[in-house]
Amino acid sequence: MIVGAGVAGLTAAIALARRGWQVEIAEVGPPEAASGWGLCLTGPSLRALDELGLADACLAEGYGMSTVTHVDVNGEPAGEAQLPRLLGARRPAMVGIARPALHRILYAEAERRGVVVRHGVTVAAVDQERGLVRVRLSDGAVRRVALLVGADGIRSTTRGLLGLETSLGFHRQMVWRALVPRPRWATGIHQFAGKADTAGLVPLSGSQAYVFLTENGVEQSVLPDAELAPRLQQLLAAFPGRVEEIRSLVSASESVVRRPVLTALLEGAWNRGDGVVIGDAAHAPAPQMASGAALAIEDGLVLARELERHESVGAGLQAFVSRRAQRCRTLVETSVAIVGLEREQRHHEAYPLADSCHLLMAEPA
Ligand SMILES: Cc1cc2nc3c(=O)[nH]c(=O)nc-3n(C[C@H](O)[C@H](O)[C@H](O)COP(=O)(O)OP(=O)(O)OC[C@H]3O[C@@H](n4cnc5c(N)ncnc54)[C@H](O)[C@@H]3O)c2cc1C
Repeated sequence: MIVGAGVAGLTAAIALARRGWQVEIAEVGPPEAASGWGLCLTGPSLRALDELGLADACLAEGYGMSTVTHVDVNGEPAGEAQLPRLLGARRPAMVGIARPALHRILYAEAERRGVVVRHGVTVAAVDQERGLVRVRLSDGAVRRVALLVGADGIRSTTRGLLGLETSLGFHRQMVWRALVPRPRWATGIHQFAGKADTAGLVPLSGSQAYVFLTENGVEQSVLPDAELAPRLQQLLAAFPGRVEEIRSLVSASESVVRRPVLTALLEGAWNRGDGVVIGDAAHAPAPQMASGAALAIEDGLVLARELERHESVGAGLQAFVSRRAQRCRTLVETSVAIVGLEREQRHHEAYPLADSCHLLMAEPA
């Protein structure tokens, strides 16, 4: 039983089903609920998806790219990073993809592998009994399962039901995303340092891209939908150079979202008995490293591998957590360090930190 049909839940389901597990997912939301903006799947994401046979489908749906161009506060180029091509020289280092497109690819593969996804249900209670986990769902159904995986995101309910505690970190940053038409020059990621904030552009397909902006030194708040596009345009007005062109595209965007930068990291074990949490439920980095999905996808793969290698679920889970803990901690902590450097406008220190962490992530999971 997996709780949550996001990136972590669906990829874990596919990886387990490939190894002969019968998998059911309880997802609280409706089908096709993935939010409208996009994300960047870096090399480690693509490598893990390739192992599930899904990287080429993502490359076909999204926009493959290999460079990150940094632009300084005066609008001048400040260097270009070539990211490692983990799928070989013929395929790009990463892919920008719309979330609904990624969701469709994962969902179709999970269904093809016989995974049952039940929508509109969540987990209400969990007990461990004689080598099985007894899970009561919100619709009253009870399952006795060999393994419970909480893949229900940063605000995971499963985590609490398993008795695992963590607090969420808010870093006085709000992130903006807006879907826009892709300018022809945008063939890789562009990142613009501003006097107060950071902005950028990520291609998602031949025709679409998303603009991102990180607003520094603000408290968590919610703005009315009608104010989102004008406010984002106002924030982008502080940037010189090419951002002017991006700014004009935002006025026509029908999809502008604003979210707090939140992080989470479970100290100690991620499992209790035969229940475990994975993905953002265990380790949610800030979006600056564009690697939360990579960790989530790798979790599913490594979990399935370790369960196969060990006789009991408990031993498999312990091996899984010890394989994953340091890598995930490094990524979350690096992302938080980058947030701090961005807040202090120390971009020239943030870039090499991000680059070296990407190199570390290029090591096998
Ligand atoms: C603004 C922003 C930009 C980002 N950009 C990138 C990027 O470019 N690249 C990247 O790799 N990562 C990025 N990330 C991080 C990435 O989105 C997450 O790390 C990733 O989605 C984690 O996957 P997950 O499946 O663990 O959690 P989620 O994607 O949050 O999925 C959790 C699922 O569980 C369901 N759920 C929640 N609660 C319950 C419950 N109680 N019962 C049942 N179901 C439940 C939810 O509906 C959802 O379907 C970004 C994050 C943010 C906020």
